[in-house]
Amino acid sequence: MKKSLFIVFSVLLLAGCQKPAVIDSADVTRIITTLASDDMEGRMIFTPGIEKASVFLQGEFEKIGLEYIDGLNSYEQKFGMYSIRPESAEIKINGQTIDADNGFAAANSRSVSVNNVNDIKILRVAGNSNLRAAFQQASAEEGTHLILVNTAHKVMFARYKSFFGRGNRVMKLEDNKAVVMVLTNETNVRSVEINVQNNVTEQSLSNVAGKITGNRENEIVLFSAHYDHLGIRGNEGDTIYNGANDDASGTTAVVSLAKYFKDMGKKPERTIMFVAFTAEESGGFGSRYFSQQLNPDNIVAMFNIEMIGKPAVSGPNTAWITGFDKSNFGELLQKAVEGTEYEFYADPYPTQNLFYRSDNATLARLGVPAHSISTTPIDVDEDYHQASDEVGTLDLDHMTNTIKAIAAAAVRMISGEDTPTRVDPANVN
Ligand SMILES: [Zn+2]
Repeated sequence: MKKSLFIVFSVLLLAGCQKPAVIDSADVTRIITTLASDDMEGRMIFTPGIEKASVFLQGEFEKIGLEYIDGLNSYEQKFGMYSIRPESAEIKINGQTIDADNGFAAANSRSVSVNNVNDIKILRVAGNSNLRAAFQQASAEEGTHLILVNTAHKVMFARYKSFFGRGNRVMKLEDNKAVVMVLTNETNVRSVEINVQNNVTEQSLSNVAGKITGNRENEIVLFSAHYDHLGIRGNEGDTIYNGANDDASGTTAVVSLAKYFKDMGKKPERTIMFVAFTAEESGGFGSRYFSQQLNPDNIVAMFNIEMIGKPAVSGPNTAWITGFDKSNFGELLQKAVEGTEYEFYADPYPTQNLFYRSDNATLARLGVPAHSISTTPIDVDEDYHQASDEVGTLDLDHMTNTIKAIAAAAVRMISGEDTPTRVDPANVN
């Protein structure tokens, strides 16, 4: 009697010490309201607003007690980016200076200088041949290319010129590589003098990442969302694009899931990784950098969570999965929640190409069963990419239920009982 009472008491004591693992709607509300507040200024890359969001997320990961991912000594996965702006391009062919309207250079480097015709590869685009094909060839090959574009392509040439005139952002500079395009009917090049200067500035971006190491350390179940958005635009009325649904909702899910799985207390069978990506809205650089820092073969499944703040067309308590037929990830999710009030469907908007419109595509190209989970009726959503994408437009109960369903759907993948089939990169554009 005495002994069994002691056992009951010990169990109670243990239960009292351990935080219960729950997805709490008050906490969901707190996180999304913070991320989508005006204080974060729409979380545009290279602004103080996204820095604040990053610091907030790092603080959440710290409180939860996540581990750092391999190779880092904080939750911040920082990387450099180069902004390239064309400064000047002096182009001479056969001793004749090419007018600025008729020549430009596209180069991801600080400068390009060629003074010997043998150091440049020349492509000629006649009036009836394909300018685009020539440009693609020149960009794919090493070295500096000069494309002589027949004046019949005047309109298309102007488009290229205007596009490259705006500059570029890259993760790596490529010296000794450039495409110089000149609008001319000259096809015989005896001499060239090309001097191009670009203004290159280095800036940094950060993903926020953490993990719970599992028994099978190198089998990773990844939860992700992008925490960047569009920032401040225009100067009338509400100028702050808060991105509450896109994608403070997904980021909130990632934090909530991290807390939920950590609070379970026991070491998971597979490693669970949590990442808030930067720069999804500006070229997908965050997921690209992330995918290069680990072996993608180790990622068993990627749950990329995008816009779960509004109920789906298929009704409340449903969500859809992009690229449903590219692996059996979606089917496994459907099975995992069978008998519950929640259901998963295939993406109902195949013509919108949503599989390719978020960070999952970067990992899917590497073979990872990487899919986005969403609930937003994107075809009719009036707040999508508008300043009106605010917390007030969302259904936070629906959102909390969706996070709970994702947690339930992931259990068998985390325990190692389910393993989705790999995506065939040949089926990913
Ligand atoms: Zn998004």
